[in-house]
Amino acid sequence: TATLRLILGDQLNASHSWFKDVSPNTVYLIAELAQEATYATHHVQKVCAFFSAMAEFANALANCGHQVIYLTLDETQHYPDLPALLEHIITSKQLTAFDYQQPDEYRLAQQLGELAWPNVTKSKYDSEHFLLPFDDIKAQFAPNKHVKMEFFYRRMRKRFNVLMQDVEPLGGQWNFDQQNREHFKQQDLADIPSPLLFANDVSAILTRLKRHNINTIGKAQSSLLWPVNRRQARQLLDYFCQHLLIRFGRFQDAMTENSRADWSLYHSRLSFAINAKMISPNEVIHKVIQHWQAHQHDISLTQVEGFVRQILGWREYVRGIYWGNMPNYATKNALQAQRPLPNYFWTANTKMNCMHQAIKQSLDYAYAHHIQRLMVTGCFSLLAGLHPDEVDQWYLGIYIDAIEWVEMPNTRGMTQFADGGIVATKPYAASGNYLNKMSDYCKTCHYNVKLKTEANACPFNSLYWHFIERHHAQFSRNPRMTMVYKNWQKMDTHMQQAIIDKANTLLENIENL
Ligand code: FAD
Ligand code: SF4
Repeated sequence: TATLRLILGDQLNASHSWFKDVSPNTVYLIAELAQEATYATHHVQKVCAFFSAMAEFANALANCGHQVIYLTLDETQHYPDLPALLEHIITSKQLTAFDYQQPDEYRLAQQLGELAWPNVTKSKYDSEHFLLPFDDIKAQFAPNKHVKMEFFYRRMRKRFNVLMQDVEPLGGQWNFDQQNREHFKQQDLADIPSPLLFANDVSAILTRLKRHNINTIGKAQSSLLWPVNRRQARQLLDYFCQHLLIRFGRFQDAMTENSRADWSLYHSRLSFAINAKMISPNEVIHKVIQHWQAHQHDISLTQVEGFVRQILGWREYVRGIYWGNMPNYATKNALQAQRPLPNYFWTANTKMNCMHQAIKQSLDYAYAHHIQRLMVTGCFSLLAGLHPDEVDQWYLGIYIDAIEWVEMPNTRGMTQFADGGIVATKPYAASGNYLNKMSDYCKTCHYNVKLKTEANACPFNSLYWHFIERHHAQFSRNPRMTMVYKNWQKMDTHMQQAIIDKANTLLENIENL
């Protein structure tokens, strides 16, 4: 038999058992496809990063002796979609077997699941990437049911024996989040290391995107700073261990626009490399723990636990939420949010400094760190009642690491509460006070974070109370929100009305904030 094996753009896993043996009867296909470049309007750096990493992977496979078909947009342009391309290759080469790996996205799983050709055997393989086996998801993530991340994470720690001492968590505590919520003080800023940036030439890809009229957003860079192969992914991981891990947890939630700090602070920027499977979550976790074990006099467990929680906890958890709840998850809109996204999400032209900084950085680098995504753009979208379909599309397009399985539970679930509480037990709604505490954005903002109703009052303040008031029915009986509703009720009715009026005026003029 002669077999065609498909490798999707986020399946660049060199350790996959497929590649253990070289066979003259197996041909691997890696293809740039318009369907993938256009299912959302992507950041140009994201498309370049995927295409470049795919080409690198194809080269690496060929160098190991595997047979590889690598097709660019030039060669795939005449096929309307992936099934049409596969059909052509299978019939023209008279192949008798088709293998693929379980896609992480529902859309692709459906598309590949439906394929069938006479006299061709189709087989699906595990992607051999995640810690939690795909078949275990259904048992842990029942549809429409809230699953608490913390308990999932503890089960994962035990199951995979990560940061454990027998059956107890190392350090006697599962979670060090309370110690991990510092903002930057002036004296902290000078210590922040510059990010490790690569310089991968993607000029040919940029030309190709233009030639094929692929619509993108964000700032193009012919010299791509993101990792595009395993070697670079490992360099980034080493850099993280050596320079960033030491304060990762401590400043995980902090934000700054100070020019002495670079844009990615103490974050690893590994998400693209991990999501494209150039490096495995297991390798990342163990490398970080190993590094910590060798440097325990410098690096505290708090920093390491904070990092491990993101990958062993959150990352595996959102995948479970996605597969446990798709396809219904994609249409959930529990808070009936209907407003379209204002134009400044694509231009960063807004007087709200926090929004300007988060969006500008996203347009420049296809990157914002977790708290910028959650508490700036995410929180604003929640407070303003922006439609989760539009919010999802924006997040899915703009970030270097955005693939639906990880983007959607974070966006629709965690930030927008559109899933009605499958992910979060209460909405991540906050007034300007939170942003003022965790960042220096308010200091230079056009708006005043201390004011609620005045002309120059911070929009987050009145929008916050508007959100609380308009969702009274959903949240007032939520025990985690009792205090908030008490505070609202304690407020003078004239003040309440002034705040609601102010928020309504802002919402009517949302494009001009
Ligand atoms: P670090 O801060 O260094 O964290 C280390 C790693 O932990 C990340 O590389 C990532 O693999 C993992 N991680 C951390 N938080 C999460 C999380 N909540 N969910 C899943 N993995 C996590 N992450 C994506 O990979 N793709 C997305 O499309 C995506 N969309 C998001 C949308 C919103 C609204 C929010 C609030 C978060 C989103 N995240 C997404 C999670 C998180 O913001 C990014 O993983 C992180 O910012 C990537 O930067 P980093 O590699 O420097 O992360
Ligand atoms: Fe953002 Fe309000 Fe602070 Fe301005 S004042 S940066 S809008 S939180």
